[in-house]
Amino acid sequence: MTDPRPFAPSDDDLSQCVRCGLCLEHCPTYVETRLETESPRGRLYLIKAISDGVIEPTPNALDHLDSCLQCRNCEAVCPSGVPYGRIMEQARSDAMESGAAPLSWRLRALFLREVIARPGRLRFFATVLRASERVGLLTLAQRLPLVGTSATLAPRMRGRPFTKTGLVARPEGAERARVAMLSGCIMPLAYGNVHRATVRVLARNGCAVSAPAAQGCCGALHAHNGDLDTARALARRNIDAFLDEAPDAIVVNSAGCAAAMKEYGDLLAGDAEYHDRARQMSALVKDVHEYLVGLSFEAPPRTLDLAVTYQDSCHLAHAQGISDAPRQVLKAIPGLRLVEMENPDRCCGAAGVYSLTQAEMSMRLLDDKMLDVQSTGADVIATANPGCLAQLEAGVRRTGGSAQVRHVIELLDRAYRPASV
Ligand code: SF4
Ligand code: SF4
Repeated sequence: MTDPRPFAPSDDDLSQCVRCGLCLEHCPTYVETRLETESPRGRLYLIKAISDGVIEPTPNALDHLDSCLQCRNCEAVCPSGVPYGRIMEQARSDAMESGAAPLSWRLRALFLREVIARPGRLRFFATVLRASERVGLLTLAQRLPLVGTSATLAPRMRGRPFTKTGLVARPEGAERARVAMLSGCIMPLAYGNVHRATVRVLARNGCAVSAPAAQGCCGALHAHNGDLDTARALARRNIDAFLDEAPDAIVVNSAGCAAAMKEYGDLLAGDAEYHDRARQMSALVKDVHEYLVGLSFEAPPRTLDLAVTYQDSCHLAHAQGISDAPRQVLKAIPGLRLVEMENPDRCCGAAGVYSLTQAEMSMRLLDDKMLDVQSTGADVIATANPGCLAQLEAGVRRTGGSAQVRHVIELLDRAYRPASV
């Protein structure tokens, strides 16, 4: 199927930028470098100049686009409403399709398409990572010159994988809703514990929870890296899998995935067959914290004597506009003290595969983040996205810290359960 190109960085989108510069101090790469070419305004200028044929898409010019985290902080603060996220996705896609993209972009797209989007291969890859961790290979690799950074940043597999499908939990007490949960690609392998906690918390709040067997990767990483065809194919698969269940809501505990799924309507805007269903699906998607607050979730009984600092996941705070709901969840836990860091909504440098492809900038942002975290004296860093969990865990390893890194829902789940659990 040939996809239409509704996301082309059109003059309409690009011309919304009035070059006021209000976004600059909110851009992590600009704050680090003070370079205009590493700012949202500079990148928009570059994209416009390339699309107008004023400059060539040289490797140097494209590298300024590649160093963007797609954290969308600029979009959230832009007074002109510049749709930065979709402009950047289309610009990267155009670079890939025109043949201008360097080999590293193509290899990354190949990995995302042939491993991340394919559950069997991803499981194999995760098994290798898990085995490497178990026999100490990852720890050893952290000390090696060429692969040390990647080994530090590679996600650690926490707990057993989450493999359940179909009806995974009945509601405790009267049924209030029937929800379908995104299991996703990396999350069930690396953070099975977070999925199990999410299922328990939803059931505790009266939800029957299913995990449709035919679902898969949401396609966010593919869209961010300029492979819109694969992102659209994955979106179509999920639309069929989830809408067939006719749930009251589609609950997602990964900020990046929920943001992408809420935009399926835009992603498939030119698809005559799927556009209406994509919009229907997007309307059902809820971030798990947003959903629980909307349900007036049950106050947990157990006291957690913890100082917790919360790292806003970019795709929750900036792409979905949700920053209050996870804090409401944390504040509802008896004994828990929420200690805000100075810049909780500045990207930690995870940004999908960015920590592997732009390792130096990723590390600079992570080191800044860990200083900010340390100034709070928190026992726990809470966040809401698998990439952020992995990056912050790497930050704790890198700094020799002792803070735990947890998904917000893991803490709520702990506070629902007896002290012995
Ligand atoms: S992207 Fe928005 S905030 Fe940034 S320079 Fe353009 S108009 Fe101003
Ligand atoms: S998405 Fe983030 S890194 Fe990229 S230009 Fe906007 S603020 Fe900067």
